[in-house]
Order: sequence, then C-alpha cells, then structure tokens
Amino acid sequence: MGATAIVEGVRLRDGELRRVLRERFGHDRFRGHQEEAVVAFIQGRDLLLTMPTGAGKSLAYQLPALLVEGLTLVVSPLIALMADQVDGLVSRGIAATFVNSSIDGGERRRRLDACCRGEFDLLYVTPERFRSPDFLERLPRLRITRLAVDEAHCISQWGHDFRPDYSRLARYRALLGNPPTIALTATATPRVAEDITRALALRDPLVLRSGIERPGLFFAATVCDSVEQKIDHLAQRLAQIEGAGIVYGTLVRDLEHLAVELRRRGLAPLLYHGGLSFRERREFQRRFMESRDGIVLATNAFGMGVDKADIRFVIHYQVPRTLEAWAQEVGRAGRDGGPAWCELLYFEEDLAIQQNFIQWANPSLEYLLGVYEVLRGWGERIATRDLDDLRAELLVKERRDNRVVICLKWLEVLGVTEGSFETHDLRLTRELDPAELPPSVGSQEKLEHDLSALLGVVRFAREETTPRRVLLARHFDLPEEGLAFGCDNSEDPCAWRSAHLAPRAPLSPAPPRLEADDTPFQRGDWVRIDGRHLGQVVRVEGRGGRIKLLIESAGDLRRRQVDPRRRRVERL
Ligand code: ADP
Repeated sequence: MGATAIVEGVRLRDGELRRVLRERFGHDRFRGHQEEAVVAFIQGRDLLLTMPTGAGKSLAYQLPALLVEGLTLVVSPLIALMADQVDGLVSRGIAATFVNSSIDGGERRRRLDACCRGEFDLLYVTPERFRSPDFLERLPRLRITRLAVDEAHCISQWGHDFRPDYSRLARYRALLGNPPTIALTATATPRVAEDITRALALRDPLVLRSGIERPGLFFAATVCDSVEQKIDHLAQRLAQIEGAGIVYGTLVRDLEHLAVELRRRGLAPLLYHGGLSFRERREFQRRFMESRDGIVLATNAFGMGVDKADIRFVIHYQVPRTLEAWAQEVGRAGRDGGPAWCELLYFEEDLAIQQNFIQWANPSLEYLLGVYEVLRGWGERIATRDLDDLRAELLVKERRDNRVVICLKWLEVLGVTEGSFETHDLRLTRELDPAELPPSVGSQEKLEHDLSALLGVVRFAREETTPRRVLLARHFDLPEEGLAFGCDNSEDPCAWRSAHLAPRAPLSPAPPRLEADDTPFQRGDWVRIDGRHLGQVVRVEGRGGRIKLLIESAGDLRRRQVDPRRRRVERL
C-alpha cells in the first residue's frame, strides 16, 4: 500500500489522469466536470462541486488522493455507506479506510495509527469524529493534505438536511491547517452554495455546478383529489412500466396501506423504511439490486448508497419537503442512460404531514431552553433517565416529533453535554448561555424559509405550462442548457411512455380461494400480525383449524412461521 506520490505543482504528463482513471477506477473517460475538478484539486484549489446523485462526484477527490502526497480526509455523514464506499475502493487496490462508531475503539486506533504511518491515501470519517480525543490527538501526525466534505449541503441551515455537527467544520478545517478543500453536494440552491463557501471559509473556490443532464428522464406531476384516486393512478402507472423502481412516501403507515392496495390490484411491492435494522436494510438493498422488476415502496431512508443503474421509475406518492430532496431522489432513475419515468403525485392533504415535519425540525428557542432546564433539574439523576422520560417531561405526544433529539444534538455540539442516553452517560458539563446559540436556532426566518421551500414543491407540482427545465433552472440558478430531460409541460406524456417504456408483465393470477371452512388463509394473502407487523403468506401448512403460516415480513423480508392460534393474524 502507500501513496503514488507526485510533487505538488509538477505538471502532469499528458494522458496521465486518463491512465489513472482507466487503470485504477476502470472508467474510459471523465464525466461532466470531473476532469476540471480533478485538475484543480490536485493543483491545490478549493472547490465547490455540485453534480446530481450518481453522476460521479467522489472521483473528484479520490483520483487526486492517489496522486497527491499525504492523506485525503473525507468527511461524510453517512455511516451506513462508509464501509461500502471503502470496500469498493479497496477492491480496486486503493488504500482507503474509515473510522466511525460502527467499529470498536481498538480497531479505530489501529486504523488511525496506520494512517499516521502513511499507509493510506484516503480516510473517511463522520464529523462527530472531531470530538474524539483519540482522533484529535493523532491529527498532527495524519499529514492531511486534502479535505473533502461530502453531502456539503448539511453545513447550511438553509439546506434540506442540516446537521449541527457540520456547523463546526470550518473550525475543524482550521485545525488541519486549512488544506485545499472540496465541498460536494448533489443539489444546492444559490443560498445554500453561498452558505457552504462561507461556512467552510473556502478561498476563491472553483465553483462547478451541473444540473440534471439525462435526456432519458421524463418528469411529470399529477394533481390528485383523493387517496383512492392517487392509488388508482399509481397502480395504473406501475402497470405501464416494466422494470425496477421506487415509490417514495413520507409516512410508513401510508406506505403500508398502499402496499396492501397495490397487492389487491395485482402488483407485488416491497416495503422499506427507516425502522429496519442495519442488517435488514442491507439484505433488502441486496434483493432490490438483484431484481429486474422490483417495486420498492420507501421512505426517504431508502436510496442513499443504492447505486442501481437500471431504475426505470421514481414516483413520489406524497410530496417531498423540498425540490432539492426531490431532485436527489429522482436522480436515482435511469443512471444507465436508458429511459425512466419520474412522477410527482400531488394531493393537498399530504402537505399537512410535511408542515408538521417542518415544525418539528425547527424547535423554538424556548423549547431548546426547556430541554436544557429539564436536564439541569435532573442533576445527578440524569444517569437514571432516558429519552422517553425527557419526552414525557416535555409532553411530547407524537412519536415522530423529534424536537427533543434535535435539541439534545445542539447541546452536545455546543459542548454543554457529553455522553448520551443510549450509553447511560449523559451529563451536563457546563451552563448554557442562550447568546451562544447560532442565530438560526429557533428563528422565525428559518421556519418561514422551510415552509416556503415546501411551497416551491407545490408550485412545481401544479405548474401546467412552463417547461420543468425552466422551473428547475430558476430554482437552482443553473443555465437552462445544463438541464436535459423530457417533461409533461413540453411534450405528450402518453406518447413518451409508449415510445420509451414497455408495460409490466401481469402477475400470475392468484389461485382460487379455498373453501371458507377449510382455512381462512392462503398463499399470497396480506396479513397483519398482532395488529402491527405487515406480511404476506407464502405457505399454508396443515388444514382446517390446525394450520401454520409461513409469512414473509414486509419490513425485513424474513420468513417466519406463525401459528394463528397463538398470534393475532388478520387478513387484509
Ligand atoms: P455521486 O457521489 O455523485 O452520487 P459516485 O461518485 O458514487 O456518485 O459515482 C456513482 C457511480 O458512477 C459509481 O458507480 C462510479 O463508479 C461511477 N462513475 C464515476 N465516474 C465515472 C466515469 N467517469 N465513467 C463511468 N462511471 C463513473
């Protein structure tokens, strides 16, 4: 292992970058802005690079990491993806590793020490790592010569996925001696792009931004007047499209209902949501990656790291919170260059869900101080309490209301608390001075900004004449020529579908039902177990009242034997 060093500033021989691209990464040519970014980063410039998801942003720092001396530190919030990213690099013989909370302390130290000895070119960490004494102590010896900040929109309070830990990155960057830095994100409004540059203190950065350039994609939006209409419309649409794809929804409860309804209409969807364990998620993703025609119903937890080239449709069953989130999700369609259908179903009542989420994502200053006061009031007893106690104190009734968690994160990032409820070592380390909170915490402006972003989605969905390219160019401040795709406001969607997509093969018809007195269940039935778990019967064993069911859970796809005399099994 070890870096293939070149002295910085030396002109690269002609064709050198292409050779590395081919030999180390297996690609024949650069895509979009990749080459420009690679050259600038090797030369030591700061960069802000926006390219759609799946376009190949990572190469902009991975390739330079092989050529520039020293270590490239990659900051990413996506713990679940780090192992995969690093495995992918290692399988190409690239010296990369990661350090995060998914591996134990001993192994973390071993990896960091190996980095100190110069055995790696790339080290992936989460921003939380900068709070770890082991990491901070080794920083000077890591010889970090480049910094890459992935998912850089998380820095911006105006981004759709703000993370308090990211707000400290400028400070961390200074700790590293301000190495040349590249900030990467799939989508950024001008305001977010500005915020990233400022928050990371990038010096005269080279800004490279590209929009969605996939002529194979077709964007459409449909206004629906009821849930039933929405489901009928979706079922009809899915039947028209052969191949694998994703239907995004906001609430698991609604997706469960949708799964049952689609099944009734002869489709066989899979259901994915954030409640699945890490192992279940991996298994689910593996099955989807291998499937040629799988329909996944998913919350936005699904997709990060799903690099499936032949996704033929991405349909939003409920409105997403921002156009940035929407763009990121539709960016998963048609990566193989083939046609893909992207449709947003707009139903006014779905807005209320997002409005709630926005309220919960923006706890007021009083709320935050309330959380702090409860912790302070508990004093030593804090060690015996947990998150549920805190929620109870603050009278949180809605399970999805996670304001408490956001406030705890702020207190941690500000250094007011250490430890966590999960590890039973949460404690206050000092007094909180409200004046030290960033101005956006609890601000009305931030709340209004988020609500107006939602309104942007509504406008986009309801617009019937302006080409969607024009709408997106305005929103993201991109040149219209840089956006290439078809849309319902510029051409006939039916004609596009019949020219580009084939209908889905119908499922084999369900076998006729058995006699009612024989058994109430049969293969293919959707059932709910104990009023909670949704699943599908894959086998019925025994007869009459003495049967056992083999049920495939819609959540984790595992098969379990269930005795309906012991468990409450309702047929849906
Ligand atoms: P992003 O970070 O923009 O979502 P990635 O960097 O993960 O995207 O790359 C997405 C996929 O594109 C990967 O499978 C990667 O190997 C591939 N890729 C990157 N650059 C090129 C290229 N120049 N030619 C072909 N494939 C590429």
